[in-house]
Amino acid sequence: MAETKIEIQQGDITKVETDAIVNAANSSLLGGGGVDGAIHRAGGPAILEECKQIRARQGGCPTGEAVITTGGKLPARYVIHTVGPVWHGGDKDEPEQLANCYKNSLRIASDKQLQSIAFPNISTGVYGYPKDKAAQVAVKAVKDYLQQHDSSLQQVVFVCFDAENRKLYEEML
Ligand code: ADP
Repeated sequence: MAETKIEIQQGDITKVETDAIVNAANSSLLGGGGVDGAIHRAGGPAILEECKQIRARQGGCPTGEAVITTGGKLPARYVIHTVGPVWHGGDKDEPEQLANCYKNSLRIASDKQLQSIAFPNISTGVYGYPKDKAAQVAVKAVKDYLQQHDSSLQQVVFVCFDAENRKLYEEML
């Protein structure tokens, strides 16, 4: 299996042309602010329609888990919605839950045989996860997953919205 490339980009994830982009959703799956709002605005109503169907079937999405929908009008074909943990000081399973967001999203992308996926900096906005700690968890979770699985993925992109996050990821990779 060829090596999967891990890359860093800075900017708006709704413009990224990977097979899937990941949304930092909330457990209702009904949309919100931050990257969630941006994805639904740019992707159009088809994404929310599918989120509502998933919600009717399974009642939302628990923290650390992920679901997949169409990308609607986005350049990405799919959106993988995952629910990051709210930061409560770090001893409430936040690192495990955040790692699960990355691993479950990679698993869904691999199940669909996708070749590329882009992640935002999950939980580092309104959910208050310290950026440096979140970046460490994200990089380790992705590397661990790729080491442990024979995945279809050839490219994993960390899309950093702000310069501080970009710098943290650059130092780590
Ligand atoms: P959470 O509730 O998981 O903290 P937020 O959407 O508030 O989710 O923030 C998650 C991260 O996404 C933050 O680092 C924020 O700066 C970033 N972000 C916000 N809008 C975008 C966007 N359009 N593209 C990429 N990242 C974004």
